[in-house]
Amino acid sequence: MQRLCAHLRGVAVEGGKLGRMHTTPDRNRAEIVVDLDAIADNVATLKSRADCPLMAVVKADGYGHGLVPSARAAVRGGADTLGVTVIEEALALRRAGIGVPILAWLTGSGEDLTEALTQDVELSAASIWMLEEIAEAGQACGHVARVHLKVDTGLSRGGAHMSDWPDLVAAAAAAQEVGQLKVGGIWTHLAYADTPGHSTITAQLAAFDDAVRIAARDGLGDVPKHVANSAATLTLPDAHYDMVRPGIAVYGLDPMGGDPAAYGLRPAMTVQAAVTLVKRVPAGSGVSYGHEYTTSKPSTLALIPVGYADGVPRNATNVGPVWLAGARRTIAGRVCMDQFVVDVGDDPVQAGETAVLWGPGTAGEPTAQDWATALHTIHYELVSRVGGRLARRYLSSVPEEVPDPASRP
Ligand SMILES: *Cc1c(COP(=O)(O)O)cnc(C)c1O
Repeated sequence: MQRLCAHLRGVAVEGGKLGRMHTTPDRNRAEIVVDLDAIADNVATLKSRADCPLMAVVKADGYGHGLVPSARAAVRGGADTLGVTVIEEALALRRAGIGVPILAWLTGSGEDLTEALTQDVELSAASIWMLEEIAEAGQACGHVARVHLKVDTGLSRGGAHMSDWPDLVAAAAAAQEVGQLKVGGIWTHLAYADTPGHSTITAQLAAFDDAVRIAARDGLGDVPKHVANSAATLTLPDAHYDMVRPGIAVYGLDPMGGDPAAYGLRPAMTVQAAVTLVKRVPAGSGVSYGHEYTTSKPSTLALIPVGYADGVPRNATNVGPVWLAGARRTIAGRVCMDQFVVDVGDDPVQAGETAVLWGPGTAGEPTAQDWATALHTIHYELVSRVGGRLARRYLSSVPEEVPDPASRP
């Protein structure tokens, strides 16, 4: 397959989900190419915009870009800390030798917290029972936990409701007083940051300021505060506080759905596959299950070996854009579990040629945003779900950032 970004070195292949099955997917069939320099540069760009410490969010396998390589690239770009959802993600980063502070913010009752604490993973608490479990685990393993207190200022998802916040803060301050834990942050998450000017934004920031004042009354005034996801990092300086917490923008995508180049960001992910079969068919040929597409004239069909089991959504049927044989095409007929078809009309195409599903968009190929628009979803979902039997190949000007293919499980 064609080599993207030939100026970059440090190429390696990672097995994606197949790695766990002790097989290495063939990158000559289909691959996700991740430009780690783009991730590093995006972090540097975001940091200079925000002018404060930055937590790069690398949850969900680095939004599908690979947890450890993405984290290393983010740290190279200037990320001060890393954010993940679950403890396993944080521990995987520690196992890879990453030493920067890490916050894991979604833990449930009864989870084993001791390894996280011995590995200096910071945790979030939104309830008194969570504070108690963290304090107990800290006592059990002899490590004082750093805890970020999360307040729900209007998203109604994670975080303590404002009516419970004073009690949570008082309990945390008391636990800190007796050395059971250290409060390392006060934080919240916005519901509408991707809609600049939305009335809920000012309401949530006002509620957060109230929450901060309540915490200050209990002696927690100097604790770092953080609110801003990518959208708020890019558009809402009032929400930057002491640290920003961008995720999707680290990978070069615009959370508002526009052109990331407007913010100096570039997409890090390219998804491509080699045509496995080409054939000429007559007019009136029904294509793929259910014949949802029929050729209108004699046509050349190209078979692309990726499908919904690989994270190419089935509702890309008849709408997903693909770059093939020098032009943008649209998927012809249903996306199947393992493959889909593209009608290139009378254009010449050969087996082995590269079809690009999405990439940075600089060479005519569609972007993840183009896919999101066509499929009525968001690029977050597309990049974080693509995987399956695709190989992952990293490009970096710093070869140490790239995992050694020989060290795969
Ligand atoms: C995912 C997430 C982020 C990052 O959001 P983006 O929109 O990707 O920047 C920040 N904070 C929390 C709590 C999150 O869950």
